Amino acid sequence: MIARIHAREPRSRANGPGTRFVIWLQGCTLGCPGCFNPGTHAAGGEPIAVGVLLDEIRATRGIDGLTLSGGEPLQQAPAALELVLGARRLGLSTLVFSGYTHAEIAAQALGPALLAHLDVLVDGRYVAGQRLGAGLRGSTNQQLHMLSGRHSRAEVEATPTTEIRIARDGSVVLTGVEPLKRL
Ligand code: SF4
Repeated sequence: MIARIHAREPRSRANGPGTRFVIWLQGCTLGCPGCFNPGTHAAGGEPIAVGVLLDEIRATRGIDGLTLSGGEPLQQAPAALELVLGARRLGLSTLVFSGYTHAEIAAQALGPALLAHLDVLVDGRYVAGQRLGAGLRGSTNQQLHMLSGRHSRAEVEATPTTEIRIARDGSVVLTGVEPLKRL
């Protein structure tokens, strides 16, 4: 199984509770005006075997969970499901950001299986006129779905909104639901 990814970050604290391995999947056709990550829309991205990603996740010490973002993870549903199942096997918590609503995901072929293995879903299109940028939600129409008892809503909503990581090679990674506000 090959996933096409935009980027990955092994240790983020701004993409869900705790320290999380984050994978941004490449490709999204939903076209929300004002999307802050337009570089993830086009098809393509780095093709990488899901097994390789899971090996990287397994080798990353001290993480609490896996977050899938994008782009649109549900537009690579087979890969997203394998990643989530793999993370669960490692005992990690699972969180997905999707532009599709919970109901839209449930109506997709692999949607129910994915939802059954998620701890948290942040769903819905980004609506620029309802901008929020807090509690993991980019806009107020988006919903936090607590799909297991693993995390409390308060814990998830306390996720930092902005993260800036400077790598040893000097490259800068900006993440979070409000990645540019404080720059
Ligand atoms: S679903 Fe997400 S990635 Fe896709 S256009 Fe909307 S905000 Fe951007």
